[in-house]
Amino acid sequence: MTDRIHLEGLRVVSCHGVLEHEKVDPQPFIADITLEVDLTAAGLSDDLSRTVSYADIAQAAEAILAGPPVDLIETLVDRIATAALAYLAVEAVEVTLHKPHAPAGVTFQDPESGGPSVTIRRERDAAFVVALGANLGRRERTLVSALEAIRSDPAMRVLAVSDLYMTDPVGGPDQPDYLNAVVVGRTRLAPWTMLEKLHLIENWYGRTRDVRWGARTLDLDLIQYGTPGDPSEFASETSELTVPHPRAHERAFVLTPWLDADPQAHVRVGDRITPVADVLQELGTDGVRPGPEWLR
Ligand code: ATP
Ligand code: CA
Ligand code: CA
Repeated sequence: MTDRIHLEGLRVVSCHGVLEHEKVDPQPFIADITLEVDLTAAGLSDDLSRTVSYADIAQAAEAILAGPPVDLIETLVDRIATAALAYLAVEAVEVTLHKPHAPAGVTFQDPESGGPSVTIRRERDAAFVVALGANLGRRERTLVSALEAIRSDPAMRVLAVSDLYMTDPVGGPDQPDYLNAVVVGRTRLAPWTMLEKLHLIENWYGRTRDVRWGARTLDLDLIQYGTPGDPSEFASETSELTVPHPRAHERAFVLTPWLDADPQAHVRVGDRITPVADVLQELGTDGVRPGPEWLR
């Protein structure tokens, strides 16, 4: 991802520093912030919710710099990076903080922007769970390719892949059996960017949407984003993006491979966070059989 938003030269006069006199004599602190954001969707839709308001980030950074004094500029850059990553569109952030009047016992050439500075870079690292399914065409080959496509995306890191399962179709018209699997990993992508990528992969394999729950060459569902109960947990109930997936906890063809990929997995159902193993035990595994061995 190369789209970037720069905020340069945010200047705040404040009292951060280790030395006693720094805590009473204000001095300037200057921040440069670079946000790595996928701007494709924002550029196409002109929709602010698909990007991040630089005013919000600038104000958050200013509040941190103008806030209670701390000893280290390292603390300040870390807080600014954390505040920026609270915006989901921000995939990564780099923060440089200059302290041009820092008491270093030497003369820096440029008294306004020279002197010591600290730079850090932090990247989002959110857990994801994706369910794969196929019941038309060369099912196994399609799933192998879809997995390969996910793996080869530098913004998604696959940590575990389930076995393949052969499953009875649930809902929808009469149709062939499915092959299902689940992939768990971590990503820097915003959830909507991730779903767009999954749709793109579906499209490569001729996915169409004619009949609800009808047969398909490839189905990729974002089951969960972030970790339930953790600040990284993401929830959305729009029709474009419903996460956690509203039907996953009722589907043995999702829970069986999910448990296989991550035996410790937990799922949120309403207010409750429950081990997937418990939900599956309750639900049973009717209609789910071991599938072929696959090269994962
Ligand atoms: P189900 O969602 O019950 O598994 P399905 O996979 O057959 O049904 P699709 O036709 O693939 O449904 O998707 C319908 C719409 O759902 C798509 O337009 C997609 O954008 C949207 N959608 C919303 N949330 C998600 C999600 N978490 N994962 C995948 N698609 C989602
Ligand atoms: Ca589905
Ligand atoms: Ca789907």
